[in-house]
Amino acid sequence: MNLLRQAVKRILTSCVPSRWLLTRGPRQTTTKTPRIALTFDDGPHPEHTSKLLDILQANQLTATFFVVGKNAEQAPGLVQRIVDEGHELGNHTWSHGEPSQTSPSLFLEEIQRTDELLAALTGVVPQTVRPPKGELNLAKLRGLWKQSKNVALWNVDPRDYRMTSDAEVSAWVSTYKPQDGDVLLFHDNHPWASQALTQLANRGTFDRVETVSVSTLVGISPASNSPVAVSTIAST
Ligand SMILES: [Zn+2]
Repeated sequence: MNLLRQAVKRILTSCVPSRWLLTRGPRQTTTKTPRIALTFDDGPHPEHTSKLLDILQANQLTATFFVVGKNAEQAPGLVQRIVDEGHELGNHTWSHGEPSQTSPSLFLEEIQRTDELLAALTGVVPQTVRPPKGELNLAKLRGLWKQSKNVALWNVDPRDYRMTSDAEVSAWVSTYKPQDGDVLLFHDNHPWASQALTQLANRGTFDRVETVSVSTLVGISPASNSPVAVSTIAST
C-alpha cells in the first residue's frame, strides 16, 4: 500500500507544476547559489520554536513554519514572531489528525479554521498547506486546489522526530549535501531541529546556500491579506 502511495505521489509530482504540488523546487537556470527551503512542522512549541527562531535570526536564515492551528492558538506571540522575523507561515491543519481517519470535508474544515486563526493573529492567510504526514487523497488535493492553495511536501527528511541524541543529529548533518531546490522537513515540537541547524551553521553549510521560503522557491506570493481572503475561502 505504501509503495502504491509512493508511486501515485511520484506520478502526480511529475505531472503538475511544483507551485501546486511541491516536493523539490525547480532548478535555477541563472543564479549560481543553491537555494534550499528549511521547513518546520507541528509547532509552534513554547520552548523549541522560540529557540529555533533565535538560531534562524542569528544566522540570517529564512524558513517556513507549517503550524498546527490548535498549537498556534496557544502561542499567538510565537506566530506573530514567525511573521515579524520574515518567515513564512504555512497551514498544517487544526488538529493534525491521522490522515486515514480524517475525511476530506473535515480536513478542509480544519484548513479553513486554521487559516481564520492565523489571519486573526497576523493579518495574513497562508498560501501553502502541508498535510499531516504528507498524505493526501485526490478529494483533499482537489479541495485545496479549488481554494487555490499550494501543497508543499519535501524531498529531504532527516527524520528528526525519531532522533534521540545529538549523535544522531551529527550523523545526519555529516551526510547532508545541499542540492539546489531541496525542501528539508524538520519538526519544531522536538529539540533536534535546533541542533541540526546549529551543526549545519558550524560546518559552513549556510555560507554556501541561500535559504528561502517555500513560496519563494516556487515563485509564488507567500500569503494573502486577511479579511477578503478569509471571506472568500469561507464562501467556497
Ligand atoms: Zn506534522
